[in-house]
Amino acid sequence: MSRSRPRIGALVALAASGALGLSMAAGTAQADPRPEDKNPTATGVGGAVSSVDPSATAAGMEVLRKGGNATDAAVATAAALGVSEPFSTGIGGGGFFMHYDADTGEIQTIDGREEAPSGITKDAFVDPETGELYPFSPERVTSGVAVGVPGTLATWETALDRWGSRSMAKALKPATQLARRGFVVDETFREQILDNEERFAAFGPSSELYLPGGDAPAVGSIFRNRDLAHTYSLIARQGTDAFYHGPLAEEIASTVQDPPVTEDTDLPVPPGSMTASDIADYEVRTPDPTVSDYRGHDVYGMEPPSSGGTTVGEILNILEQYDLGSMPEDQALHHYLEASALAYADREAYSGDSEFVDVPIEQLLSDGFAKERSCLLDPTRAADKPVAAGEPDGDYVESCDQAPDTPAGTSAQDDEGLSTTHLTVSDRWGNVVSYTSTIEQTGGSGMVVPDRGFLLNNELTDFTVDPEDTGPNSIAPGKRPRSSMAPTIVLKDGEPFLALGSPGGSTIITTVTQTLMNRIDLGMDMESAVAASRATQRNRSTVSAEPEFTAAYGDALAGYGHEFSAFPDIGALTGIEFLPDGSTKAVAEPVRRGGGDARVVDPR
Ligand code: GLU
Repeated sequence: MSRSRPRIGALVALAASGALGLSMAAGTAQADPRPEDKNPTATGVGGAVSSVDPSATAAGMEVLRKGGNATDAAVATAAALGVSEPFSTGIGGGGFFMHYDADTGEIQTIDGREEAPSGITKDAFVDPETGELYPFSPERVTSGVAVGVPGTLATWETALDRWGSRSMAKALKPATQLARRGFVVDETFREQILDNEERFAAFGPSSELYLPGGDAPAVGSIFRNRDLAHTYSLIARQGTDAFYHGPLAEEIASTVQDPPVTEDTDLPVPPGSMTASDIADYEVRTPDPTVSDYRGHDVYGMEPPSSGGTTVGEILNILEQYDLGSMPEDQALHHYLEASALAYADREAYSGDSEFVDVPIEQLLSDGFAKERSCLLDPTRAADKPVAAGEPDGDYVESCDQAPDTPAGTSAQDDEGLSTTHLTVSDRWGNVVSYTSTIEQTGGSGMVVPDRGFLLNNELTDFTVDPEDTGPNSIAPGKRPRSSMAPTIVLKDGEPFLALGSPGGSTIITTVTQTLMNRIDLGMDMESAVAASRATQRNRSTVSAEPEFTAAYGDALAGYGHEFSAFPDIGALTGIEFLPDGSTKAVAEPVRRGGGDARVVDPR
């Protein structure tokens, strides 16, 4: 059998075409243009950075070249993404940071997820006028009520304190320069503004920044964010206290409570309750990573409130029951889709913020549970969806003959957006960072904090917003909404083998899993594994698939009973593979979202 080559070779060939001609306007000699060539793959030594954006990758590379370590470079890259990818991430949001320490071999995490304010009520998303839930868009997503207390700056500070060698001031420097000097606008940046035009136009500060003169900045023009440069400079001078205990806390709270809407907008923009003391009370958490063993690899993931680690781990544990590498490709993909549906049913039933609900992490990741769940996987036939959740109770069948019949499941439609960004960094000492951050939807809540140059998240829409809901992801003060973010580090024989992660809301989990399967089971090299077309089965009646996936495998998989719905661009993953000769291969998405940029300090 020919082992799976990605069927999107033509798209891979287009990767470089995401690059821009630099149509520099007069007087822009100082601007920091996005490098002309994006680089989806780089192999070498001395450290590596992979992100979705060349300016951000350049910021991290500058730090590595000047002797900074992986954490210093990760913070510099993330801060630059806050400038050049501001619709996916920034200090108005949150995320999950994972670190491998080359000295100790330890993997540790920081949970910088946004948190519900102390004044939130279960009916926060109910319109008091109608008694009904606000419609998802625009009310729920474009609101103060959806804004969670941001965790990103606290994440950077904790990471630098624990593992960094630079001050926050130094780590913020390249991003501050980028914000001040500007960068060349590409199509993705312009399109993301246009996609949010109505929402940004509803707020004075957002339209001033992103719709100057009533339009999104033109492709090829220079975009500067001086307010954000000032904000970063303030934090460089005064530390994160300026944000959590200083003027920024007051300003964020008043933006949330009294959204800066323009007079002529029709958007209702429900206010939220967040106060400056909610912001002052924010603390990151540092949970243990999840770990699951997959065909001799140790796969480390993120604990709750992310469902990333448990769900990626459960899918892999189910797949481990089968020898995917010896199957025809369509059969391996059928197993991947069915295992995903089973794990998403369990995610829905059991995942939430483990400081508020008892998430059976150990059982969800146990081989006994995976074995029991795999009894429901018919190797020849797709199950009717939704499938029901299992019982991760420690009491599992020895053989599938004893497996109980399960009732039909219920599917919860998640409203997670498709935003977010992932960066992966390594350094010359062998430390590794895998960091996913977000402001939830592309454009977050749509609200830029006046004169501060950054957007606030709308992460609280990730709660199950129905006030009657009593499940693990229901709303509560101080609680963090369930996430799908899945920063991942894979060790083999105790040494780093892969680090990776992806944007994409609830598709993040399947993107990471499919890429691991491509690399570990299906014989692809890392760049092919990242470029390959994707499909995601999140326990829904249809498989969401990229058109290239359906074109390549749709007929064969229809034979198993799978039905497809079209889904453009699932995930824009970044990762690093650690090669046996000691070099690293940094890989970024070649096409999706305009393509990313991967670099190494000393290319070979
Ligand atoms: N809210 C999502 C999560 O935490 C991330 C946003 C997205 O990727 O759309 O999983």
